[in-house]
Amino acid sequence: MPYLGRFAPSPTGPLHAGSLVAALASWLDARAHGGRWLLRIEDVDRARCVPGADREIIEQLRRCGLVSDAPPVWQSQRTNLYEAALERLLAAGWAYPCGCSRAEIEAVLAAQGRPRARHAERVYPGTCRNGLHGQPVRATRLLCAPDRSHPDEALVIDWHDRWLGPQCQDVSAQVGDVVLHRADGAWAYQLAVVVDDAAQGVTDVVRGADLADNTPRQRHLQQVLGLPRPRYLHTPLVRTSDGEKLSKRHAAATLDLADPLAALRGAAAVLGLDVAAHELDPWLAAATTQWAARHAVGHALA
Ligand code: GLU
Repeated sequence: MPYLGRFAPSPTGPLHAGSLVAALASWLDARAHGGRWLLRIEDVDRARCVPGADREIIEQLRRCGLVSDAPPVWQSQRTNLYEAALERLLAAGWAYPCGCSRAEIEAVLAAQGRPRARHAERVYPGTCRNGLHGQPVRATRLLCAPDRSHPDEALVIDWHDRWLGPQCQDVSAQVGDVVLHRADGAWAYQLAVVVDDAAQGVTDVVRGADLADNTPRQRHLQQVLGLPRPRYLHTPLVRTSDGEKLSKRHAAATLDLADPLAALRGAAAVLGLDVAAHELDPWLAAATTQWAARHAVGHALA
């Protein structure tokens, strides 16, 4: 299968130092495998999108020499695909309507002696698995169990990450049944990303390590939808001097693209690459060679 990679930014602001690392790594991995690289704008969460950020990201990437091999796609224009996938899941009994509010979920968890730690996932306790309790529908959830007929069995997913090595997650204990669609019409990242990776023929997902723990639920979704499973590589995160994950609210995160090569060098350093060239194109070519020497996956891909 020919290699197809992608970079899938959410247009919640311009690229920052952390997202450039993921963009560069995904581009290098595609080039190192003689493959194609696509850009997909993940704008399904309308409330978080910043008008114009999509165009700005595309322009920032272009200045760094990272140009999509096909016209970029916008997830907001692909909702018919998500709708079709959701209908299949509902018809097959892998998805169900849920009427629980956040407060209700937290109350159930507290009553079960499982209060949520700050920043931790709000593990859905499965309240609506057997039907609504007279409430309006708030969301549609994915049944996270190994088998529909044994919904109480734990879903434990083992997977291999090309950077992080062997990984394992008990999805039932750490995540619970994930939201696929909200009653306000919003499509969840989890469904959109899985449907689009398959629809576009993505063979390799290369993205930041902050998304590594989303991979098992995405692999479950691929499995129940009968979709091919891409390989995964999660890149190290850029951290602030006090060890916090870099995000858009940090001043240090702003990318100064007056000198794109300096920005690329910073991103490459996070990836453990050290490339000497002083012009953009030779720099990208040399970085590709370094990346290939460390990360190329056998001949099966070429
Ligand atoms: N849109 C996601 C983000 O910007 C990335 C999705 C992915 O690469 O799977 O964090």
